Amino acid sequence: MFDKVVKQFYYLVFLFYSMNAQVPDNYEIVGHKAFIKLYPKESVIFISDTISFRFKGKVPSEISLILNPSCKVETIFYDEQLLKYQRDREVLKISASFKNNFELVLNYTGKLARRTEFSELTENSVLLHENEIFPLGTKSYEFVRFTVQAPNGWSVIAIGESINQSTENDSTTFTYQNDQLVQTLGWVCGGNFSVRSKISNRYTLSTYLFHEDSTFSDRIISQLEKTISTYSEHFSPYRFSKLAIVEVEDWVAGRAVLAAAFPSVILVKKQAFQTEDSFNNVNTILPHEVAHQWWPLTVFLSEADNALLSEGLCEYSSILFSEWSSEKLARDSLKNSPLLRSLISRSAKGKDLPLRRKADLRSMPTHYLKAAYVHNMLRLIIGDSVYKLVLKEFAMQRALLVSNSEDFQKLAEKISRTNLDWFFKQWSEQTGIPKIKIYGVKTTIRDEYWLTEGRVRLVAYEKRFTTPVEVGLKTEEGVLKKTFWLGFDSLNVYRNEVPFSFTTQFKPKQIILDPDGNILKHQKLPAKFSDLRDPADGVIIIGTTAGNAKYAKLLELAKRDSSEMDKAGWYLKIISDTSATLGDLQNERVFVYGNITENIVADKNAPKFPMQPTGNSITIESKTYSDSLAIIQIIDNPYLSSGLMCWIVPLTDTASPHLMPYDASYVILNQKEIVTKGIWEMKDDDLVVDIK
Ligand SMILES: [Zn+2]
Repeated sequence: MFDKVVKQFYYLVFLFYSMNAQVPDNYEIVGHKAFIKLYPKESVIFISDTISFRFKGKVPSEISLILNPSCKVETIFYDEQLLKYQRDREVLKISASFKNNFELVLNYTGKLARRTEFSELTENSVLLHENEIFPLGTKSYEFVRFTVQAPNGWSVIAIGESINQSTENDSTTFTYQNDQLVQTLGWVCGGNFSVRSKISNRYTLSTYLFHEDSTFSDRIISQLEKTISTYSEHFSPYRFSKLAIVEVEDWVAGRAVLAAAFPSVILVKKQAFQTEDSFNNVNTILPHEVAHQWWPLTVFLSEADNALLSEGLCEYSSILFSEWSSEKLARDSLKNSPLLRSLISRSAKGKDLPLRRKADLRSMPTHYLKAAYVHNMLRLIIGDSVYKLVLKEFAMQRALLVSNSEDFQKLAEKISRTNLDWFFKQWSEQTGIPKIKIYGVKTTIRDEYWLTEGRVRLVAYEKRFTTPVEVGLKTEEGVLKKTFWLGFDSLNVYRNEVPFSFTTQFKPKQIILDPDGNILKHQKLPAKFSDLRDPADGVIIIGTTAGNAKYAKLLELAKRDSSEMDKAGWYLKIISDTSATLGDLQNERVFVYGNITENIVADKNAPKFPMQPTGNSITIESKTYSDSLAIIQIIDNPYLSSGLMCWIVPLTDTASPHLMPYDASYVILNQKEIVTKGIWEMKDDDLVVDIK
């Protein structure tokens, strides 16, 4: 996102105004029939909402409603009687002789003087988040109808089916209705969009895009058709009558978010349409976003299980979608994920957190990948078809129920007839990832056969892991694989190593641990620019040696790059080379701008980089690059373990490189265009053993 990020999705809700009061839990809000009139010029909304309640226990004589303090209550009616109420900031206290299952009519106005993190009303558009305009409470919505009156020329989108649209004088009224059980209503959005719709099967698929992005519509709609039909077949039939994609501005929900899903609607930020980052563009992220319509918008979840059963499962659903549809997208494998190195280094630094806990996942991109790996490993253990059946049954049996990882575990255990308690404890409650190595490999010739023997071992097992692992033997004929178990066996005996042997007709070339990259384990991976997707703190060091004009030029490049990264959640400090201290170099991320004659830090550290420019050109594999080109390189930070150091060298004054999360360790760039690139050679001797 923002060219260089982590995109983060979230569907969950945060409380937007400081709350002193507890959200009442003696009733559930089961419905809204709201008329919402927008006054864009005045930034005012008027709402007349008939709210349905259901008590959970004894019927009280007084209830509390928690409503945004900037909403001014006009009148409250119960059973056609005007009610008295007391208001103290966000708390509204209302007394009446309530019956169970009662309705209140609440008339109020709200002024949205300023944009919040989630809502805005301007003369051109509106975005209203449920938590900022409706009372908070325990929600279990059985019926919702929104009637929104907006200026002519606007389109309005909300949860559910569009049941009416009518124009009168200078305004148009839109009515949406949903009678499917939901726990969240998301946003009411509106504005002047380029609108396209297609009826496919029994669903209406629509796009509401900014006019300049309208060309994306056809591809998005065809992708929605494919994802909905694939997930409907493999999970459960899509339960809403429409799915709308709505383009929103980049500020919505904070900079670490790229898209947000709520029932029957997906908001996608403008940057997903503009980005050149194939990992984070609108088409790449849609399979994940559409999967949210099932997880957790159909199978509701307890909050602590968001990583495993919402974000991780949506990420894994998108990988399954690629398999089912044979559609290749940038996000279709775990082992090539640009977040893998970050995930491993987080664990190596002891900075990872258990998957299972309440957390704002917007700042934890590596959790998505870890949780997706957990699904992949579960699939490996219980088998492909059994795993897929578990997903289908989870979608069907747990629809409209609030589930947690125990429910998922029980179902997986029942269907697979396997005890998986150790698996879920190890991966969602423990932290860390296993370190595994191959050793003692030897090959001998026996008659006409080659016998290759060795051992595979779990190292550093202060945390005891249990995992199946594949060992592959590579010959000119391909890779032969065998699976072994490490850790606890069915008799609860712990084995941290097992022997393996292969007999082959062809000469063995290599032994490879986990040749398909199916399990999450420590491994050495080369530094790549894609590691910059995990936002961190960093320092940018600008060269001053070549005079003011050159300094100004380098600073301009650095500022452009850092403003893009800021949007992605980075905290970057810009300093000059003459003021850089050892402490600066010990930052997690260090970016050095300028050639050796332009930057003293570059001059000092150039030998640590594999590629050396000579003057204003560089030669790679006997080809020389110069002119408006630039070379950028990334290596492990020599001053801080698990840190990174990038060196950005515009070869001449006309070069204007853009730092982006390229899937490469070095890139020759012409602005954003890759002229050539490569990845540092890196062999992990623990995982790959050559046979001579
Ligand atoms: Zn998501």
